[in-house]
Amino acid sequence: MTADLAQRIIGFDLWHLSLPVVSRRDHGIGRVEAEVEVVVLRLTAEGGCEGWGEAACWAPFTGSPEASFAALDRYMRPHVLGRPLARAADITADACRAVAHCTEAKAALETALLDLTGRIAGVPVWALLGGCAQAEIPLSVSLADPDFDADLALVARLVADGVGIVKLKAGVAGHRFDLDRMERLRRDHPGLDIRVDYNQGLGPAEAAACVREVAAFRPGFIEQPVAASQFGLMRRLREAIDVPLLADESVFGPEDMLRAIAEGICDGVSVKVMKAGGPRRAQAVAGMAAAAGLTAYGGDMFETGLGHLAGAHMIAATPAISLGCEFYQARHYLVEDILAEPFPVREGRVVVPQGPGLGIVVDPGRLARYSLRSVTREAA
Ligand code: MG
Repeated sequence: MTADLAQRIIGFDLWHLSLPVVSRRDHGIGRVEAEVEVVVLRLTAEGGCEGWGEAACWAPFTGSPEASFAALDRYMRPHVLGRPLARAADITADACRAVAHCTEAKAALETALLDLTGRIAGVPVWALLGGCAQAEIPLSVSLADPDFDADLALVARLVADGVGIVKLKAGVAGHRFDLDRMERLRRDHPGLDIRVDYNQGLGPAEAAACVREVAAFRPGFIEQPVAASQFGLMRRLREAIDVPLLADESVFGPEDMLRAIAEGICDGVSVKVMKAGGPRRAQAVAGMAAAAGLTAYGGDMFETGLGHLAGAHMIAATPAISLGCEFYQARHYLVEDILAEPFPVREGRVVVPQGPGLGIVVDPGRLARYSLRSVTREAA
């Protein structure tokens, strides 16, 4: 063990943020309007070095920010403060055992431990996760504005910026609206890789017919058309179409992936740090998918650039995730991100930072500006 990693963790600070967004977004299971809420964790080591992590929640999908805040502050913190950073694996295991579910809170803790370790060791987080297999990750931007003209204008800007992938959020305003949008996008942008995500928006009676007609437009994949728990229906839909079917809400962590593989419900999986409970468990999901001959995509929640950084470093070190990522919110959805520098995107690709830790720090002034509530905790 190096002396540096023997440092104890002496600071554990939390912020519950509310961040304004530029437009409404309609998804199968719910709507986002006006703002998104995240919880930010800062760990401080004895030498003064800091590590940051984010819990990005969406209440109808993963859980609430209030639950993440309480999970971190009340149940996980006692397993973190005062312990040496070299014991990060034990800290993570003990803290995650202390509270069920709350995968976003667990993701925040593991991310902050990785960031802190990387900054002290002088290496990027991707190096701690296995090395850099992809230094740039193709970016997909989701289209979910109820005003499709606004989305068309967005697509024109994206294409001009070099973005080659979009994901149409479907199953919200009727099947006709979905077909019309697919037809228009196919006509206006024949070179674009267009994918479709229902976010569980279809009912069992309509799902097969809707999915078959959308599949006729040859989307890159169709994601989670029906409820997360409907594994049998997912399998039947997969068999009914000849474009890949992706699981998202059906697969949070490795345990779900095991069942998804056993029951043959999907051709690929959307891997998310927030669903899996941290970058390492996300890597495990991707590895299992690859072993079963399935593809993997880098999904996210409504995150800031901090959450995107955790995902970008994880994907950089995970060649099994080959379908790109959707880390667009920091640049295209938040009115203002919380990172001190813009989340790096160039010509339609996320550029993975090469500096120590996550590579970019949080701007304290922005935390204060958007904070609903914060606590500062120190080791005894
Ligand atoms: Mg999805």
